[in-house]
Amino acid sequence: MSAVFRFAPSPNGLLHLGHAYSALLNADLAAASQGRLLLRIEDIDTTRCKPEFEQAIHDDLAWLGIDYERPVRRQSEHFDAYRDALARLDAMGLIYPAFLSRAEIRAATGIPDWPRDPDGAPLYPGVDRDRPRAEAEARIAAGAPYALRLRMDEAMRRAGPLTFTEAGAGPAGEHGVLPARPELWGDVILARKEVPTSYHLSVVVDDALQGVTHVVRGQDLFQATSVHRLLQALLGLPEPLYHHHGLIRDATGRKLSKSDGDAGLAALRAAGVTPDEIRQRIGLRRHQPTPST
Ligand code: GLU
Repeated sequence: MSAVFRFAPSPNGLLHLGHAYSALLNADLAAASQGRLLLRIEDIDTTRCKPEFEQAIHDDLAWLGIDYERPVRRQSEHFDAYRDALARLDAMGLIYPAFLSRAEIRAATGIPDWPRDPDGAPLYPGVDRDRPRAEAEARIAAGAPYALRLRMDEAMRRAGPLTFTEAGAGPAGEHGVLPARPELWGDVILARKEVPTSYHLSVVVDDALQGVTHVVRGQDLFQATSVHRLLQALLGLPEPLYHHHGLIRDATGRKLSKSDGDAGLAALRAAGVTPDEIRQRIGLRRHQPTPST
């Protein structure tokens, strides 16, 4: 069985050097193992994702010389698959509708030492966890905004202890078989009123549906892997191998963002930079196609 890699950008801005690193590393590792490379367009946020950014992804990858299989999976065409996964978790009693707004969460958790998730957001205070279902459904029917959250404690109890295998490195150099720590995220959001899925849920469903064996992505998603392992275990999905890579930073040491025009691939291309120079700037060797044996 050949290895399956994927590059999974969101078309909510232009790709930059950090994306080039991720895409080229995926392509190089796929080539080195004579594996397959998929592109997945992660466009569940239909308000922020734009067709012109999606086209730019194809153009930038073609310019970098990266070839991927067709057809390309676009998450916005598969909301039913994510709804099904959510319904399965709901049938296990692991989901509850939560109604606090961001401001209300901040107010409820604004006490010293309130725990925060790895992205720095305060953990959900658990309000609504015990609200009777009929009452929650009446609020939803009346049009209240809500998020569907995972009952983290119960989910972890059900799944038991989990690990993942890190073939790259976490931000502190973590490597090898590592314990998954989904509790760091508290009751994570799996869907919202306006988007019937979330990054965590759709990535796990798609990696399994597409037969992805190797998840190669930036270290900013290292901690999210714990949630992904938990969802995989609950949904009976296979466990891929994880490889997190270092992030490309700007001159001040900050992680690049899609608004850093200077590091944008389209701008670099327009300025006459070549794909080989891009490889040099991000510290990847010139690609030597592996001889087929
Ligand atoms: N769509 C995510 C991003 O653009 C990457 C998802 C993943 O590789 O798991 O940051």
